[in-house]
Amino acid sequence: MDEKKKNLLRQLPKMDDILLALEKWGVFSLYGKGHVIAASRAALEEVRGRMIKDDISPLSHSLFDDILERIEGKLCALSRFRLRRVINATGVVLHTNLGRAPLCDSALAHIIEVSRSYSNLEYDTDKGERGLRYNHVRELLCALSGAEDALVVNNNAAAVLLVLDTLAHGREAIVSRGELVEIGGEFRIPAVMEKSGAVLREVGTTNRTRLADYEGAISEQTGLIMKVHTSNFRIVGFTEETPLESLVLLGKKYGLPVMDDLGSGCMIDLSSYGLGDEPAVPVVMKTGVDVVTISGDKLLGGPQAGIILGTKKILASVMKNPLNRALRVDKLTLAALEATLIEYLHPEKAVQNIHILRSLTESLARTRARARKLASAIRRIKNPFLSVSLKHGVSAVGGGALPTREMETTLVSLRHAQIPATRLEKIMRQFPVPVIARIDGDEVLLDVRTVRDEEFPLLCREI
Ligand SMILES: *Cc1c(COP(=O)(O)O)cnc(C)c1O
Repeated sequence: MDEKKKNLLRQLPKMDDILLALEKWGVFSLYGKGHVIAASRAALEEVRGRMIKDDISPLSHSLFDDILERIEGKLCALSRFRLRRVINATGVVLHTNLGRAPLCDSALAHIIEVSRSYSNLEYDTDKGERGLRYNHVRELLCALSGAEDALVVNNNAAAVLLVLDTLAHGREAIVSRGELVEIGGEFRIPAVMEKSGAVLREVGTTNRTRLADYEGAISEQTGLIMKVHTSNFRIVGFTEETPLESLVLLGKKYGLPVMDDLGSGCMIDLSSYGLGDEPAVPVVMKTGVDVVTISGDKLLGGPQAGIILGTKKILASVMKNPLNRALRVDKLTLAALEATLIEYLHPEKAVQNIHILRSLTESLARTRARARKLASAIRRIKNPFLSVSLKHGVSAVGGGALPTREMETTLVSLRHAQIPATRLEKIMRQFPVPVIARIDGDEVLLDVRTVRDEEFPLLCREI
C-alpha cells in the first residue's frame, strides 16, 4: 500500500469519537446502543473499503460528518417500514403480489378491538371454561354456505393439505388429469398431495374426464374422490368435465368421501353483475359434496385463510388431526374473517362494503365517471409536460378467479413530454406511497377500478 493511501486511512475517525458525537446528536435516545455500534462499524468499514479502492475524494474536510450521516442513514433505513401500502392502479382486482383483498372497515375495526386487549379467543364466557377458537366463525360460515360444519386454517393450501392428510393419507385420491392445477409457483395439486401422504390417482385426459374414468379407478385403496376448481385457467374446445353432482352420487354408491377444492370461494351469486361463471359456495354445498375448501382472501374479500366446509363427521376428524394445530389461524385473522362474514348477512351491503366486490361489480358508467374525476384532478396540477386523457380498456379479476373474465373499464392515460413511459412508471413506483400502474406503448395507464376515490387526492399530490 502506498504512503498516500496509508495517510488517508489514518484519517478515519476512532470509534469512541464517533460514538461520542452520535450521543451528542441524540442518536442514543432513538436506537439501542448495540444497533448504533453495529451501524457505526458497518459505515466505517464501508468508508475504509472505498479508501482502499481509491473510490473516495482524499482529505475531504467533512469525512467525520460524512461518516456520521452514513450511520444515521443506516439506522433510519433499518427502522423504516418495508411492508407498506401501495395504490393499485393496475385494474387487477385480486392481485396476489399486492396483497390480494384489502380488508373492509368493519374487519379492521374488529381486529383492533379484539387484539388491543385480551379476548375470549379460546374461552367460553358462559361456561367459564376453555373454548374453541374455531367457534367464533363456525355458525356464520354454516349459515352463509349451508354447510353442516366449518373450520378455518392458515390458507387454502393448508386446508387442502389437512383434508387430504385426514381422508387419504396412505390411500389413493382420484383426480382428473384436467384438474392437476398450479396456483402460482408454490401451490401445485400433485405436490400438495404428495406432502399429505395421499397417493395421486390420475384419471381421464387433459381435456376430457368422464364419470366412468373415476368409477374405473375405484379400488380397495381409494380414500377420496377429489375435484379441483380450475381457478386460473379454462380448457376450451373439445372438453368434457364430470359434474360434481355425478361425483357425489358415485361417492355415495361406494361409500367414499367427495371433496371439491373450490379455491375462490364466492359466497354470493354474482350472476346479476355478469360474473356468474364462478360457482357460488352455497350452490356447491347443495350438491351434497362432503367437503369443500376455499380461500379467505380471494373472492370472499377477507383475510388470508383457508376455510373447510363439510359434514360434521369429516370436520370432526379434520379437527382432531395433529396437523391442524400447526396450521391454525391466529386471532387477527379470525377477527377479520368474522367481521367480513357478518357483512355477507346482507348481500347488497356486502357488495358495497367489501372492496373487491365493489370493484368487481362497478359498472362501466361508474368507472368512466370516476376516471373523469381523476383526470380532471390531475389536470388541475397544471404540469405543462403532462398530458392526460381517457381511454377504453379492460380490467382483470386476478387472484386465480374468473380467468377468462375481462371487465370493461375506463383508463386514465398519462404522457410526459420529457420522460418516457417506462421511466414514468418506475418513478411512480418509487413515490412515498408507491403507485403501481400499467404501461402501454408510450403511455402510463391508471385503471380506477382498483383505486378508491379517497386515494385520488394522495395520488394527485404525489404526481
Ligand atoms: C388459490 C387456490 C388455492 C390456494 O389457496 P391459498 O389461499 O392461496 O393458499 C388452492 N386451490 C385452488 C383451486 C385455488 O384457486
